[in-house]
Amino acid sequence: MASVELVAVGTELLLGQLVDTNTAFIAQRLSEAGIDVRATHAVGDNRERIAALLSEILARADGAITTGGLGPTIDDLTKEAVCDALELDVELYEPALEQMERTFAALGRQMRSNNRKQAELPRGSLPLRNPNGTAPGFVAFSRDGKFVACVPGVPREMKPMIVDRLLPYLRERLQARETIVTFVLHTIGLGESEVDHRIDQLFRSSENPKIAVLAQSYRVDVKVMAKAASVTAAHELIAPLRREIESRLSGFIFGSNDASPASAVERLLEKRNLTLAVAESCTGGRIAAALTGVPGASKTFLGAVVAYDDAVKREQLGITRATLDAHGAVSAEVAAAMARAVRVRLNAGLGLAITGIAGPTGGTAAKPLGLIWLAVDDGTDEATTWRFELGGDREAIQERATTLALGTLWRYLSRDNGERIS
Ligand code: ATP
Repeated sequence: MASVELVAVGTELLLGQLVDTNTAFIAQRLSEAGIDVRATHAVGDNRERIAALLSEILARADGAITTGGLGPTIDDLTKEAVCDALELDVELYEPALEQMERTFAALGRQMRSNNRKQAELPRGSLPLRNPNGTAPGFVAFSRDGKFVACVPGVPREMKPMIVDRLLPYLRERLQARETIVTFVLHTIGLGESEVDHRIDQLFRSSENPKIAVLAQSYRVDVKVMAKAASVTAAHELIAPLRREIESRLSGFIFGSNDASPASAVERLLEKRNLTLAVAESCTGGRIAAALTGVPGASKTFLGAVVAYDDAVKREQLGITRATLDAHGAVSAEVAAAMARAVRVRLNAGLGLAITGIAGPTGGTAAKPLGLIWLAVDDGTDEATTWRFELGGDREAIQERATTLALGTLWRYLSRDNGERIS
């Protein structure tokens, strides 16, 4: 299998000021295209060190792909380093210069000589057009037929250049005949060890597709990765395993691939012709944010009240002082009253409420830090309530509580519903 190494260029990466998401994106796309990533690296804006790293890589792999350091500023040195490593000089790439002149004219700005530098490429390179910026990418070649592909660091410029230009070229050049397809099933309501236990045997016996279990915040994903000659063939390998996993984790799978707990909830609400209103205390609007993050949310989600202070619980939701005094704000009774009130006040089919102690202070022996009460009210009888105790710091508790609230609502909506994911 052809192999490449990835190089993220930027001193910010070494200082921990920037998280290297470019490498993750490129590695994922390459593996899908059947191109093996042997190693990934981060290097500062230093011409000698970039050049030395590229020379090392070319001694063992078919090629290198770099991101970053293609801009016009003094610390953008990737191109110079590539020229050093491959012993090439630069030549002007006219179309890039013309594109730049047009862009500057349209903006009414004057082009400087350092901008012109961006239109120069290592001699003999293959240019990669940049529809979203000024610096073109390129693939430069060594005398012994290896390559260094360079794309900009700005993700908006890098992504289309990788997907639309570099990958088709590399697949052809490296004769990549295999593809890797990843299919993810998302579960909620089972712990990681329980998921592991249920699919343990499948996990051990399956080489291709491979299975991986990944614990997220209060939910667990099962990844199935198949390697095959085509995407269709990979899906055919995945299908029987997917059915088996679905049956072993039945009732706990809320979706696949891009699905989120919020999108799963909205799909079920729509199916049941229901609308939802939310009352949030400790999550401070995170549940509403997750719900409105899903395209088409307005079909089912009406709105939310962030009732953080008790006065807001009283004034906006009509929770009585007596209820608050008798049970405390973090209690089944208050959660139930909040769910009912928000459903009635916003005229929704269903009310969801959450109240809890996110910390770092406020916990007691009876009501520890991380205590959460959830309630769902559908207008019949009593609201249904759930009690949870979550671990972690304030941010983790708020994030987990959000996932838990949506996951619990999804399980509530899918009970007796025989819900199967599509
Ligand atoms: P341009 O040609 O558009 O100036 P560039 O190739 O010079 O791009 P850099 O100057 O290295 O890119 O980085 C520009 C910005 O792109 C960074 O400040 C950062 O926001 C983002 N960026 C760069 N590298 C990465 C990376 N590895 N992961 C995520 N974001 C990155």
